[in-house]
Amino acid sequence: MVKQQKFLKQLKCCSFLPFRPNFLASIGSKHVSTRYIKTRLGLVPSASYVKLFLKSEYGNNPDLVCDYFDCENCRIWPYRPSVCRTYFCTNQTSMNFKDTKFQNLENHLAQVVLFQMGFTLKEVQYEIDFYNKLIDGDESVCYALEVDFDFYEQCHLAYLEIENWAQWLGPDNYNTKLQWEQL
Ligand code: SF4
Repeated sequence: MVKQQKFLKQLKCCSFLPFRPNFLASIGSKHVSTRYIKTRLGLVPSASYVKLFLKSEYGNNPDLVCDYFDCENCRIWPYRPSVCRTYFCTNQTSMNFKDTKFQNLENHLAQVVLFQMGFTLKEVQYEIDFYNKLIDGDESVCYALEVDFDFYEQCHLAYLEIENWAQWLGPDNYNTKLQWEQL
């Protein structure tokens, strides 16, 4: 797309902020801007960012450049989200994904991590509802909690402690996790 002069060279396809699940969100923390909302599920682009993204021509708005992009490369390449691993750019107006199952899985894993840390179903549901409002671009929502990168490091430790993933996820999602680990 850059060679066809459809994406700006300084952006490539990194002109969006991907969701970063809580157990990986502490990686690259020094690059994270206020365009991300720190939630207990992970780093989620703000509603105002989502709205700007939706009305922009993909690959052409420098204001949307990913926090982790350094004009050439991804600063968190080994830990980049599945959306970045499975995305194939085909044109300026649509984003085609091989499959969204890995993105859904990352959100699901982040939920399991919260349960592992002792959060209640009601608390986790609050996070899911808030996440859905943000990615819908609903600017009327406000996150009432303070989350920092120490919390995300605790999430990472909780993730590593979980041994019974198959029980948490069920057979289909567990198989998806095994594939996700190989992306
Ligand atoms: S996380 Fe890395 S690969 Fe993904 S959009 Fe950002 S800079 Fe690009």
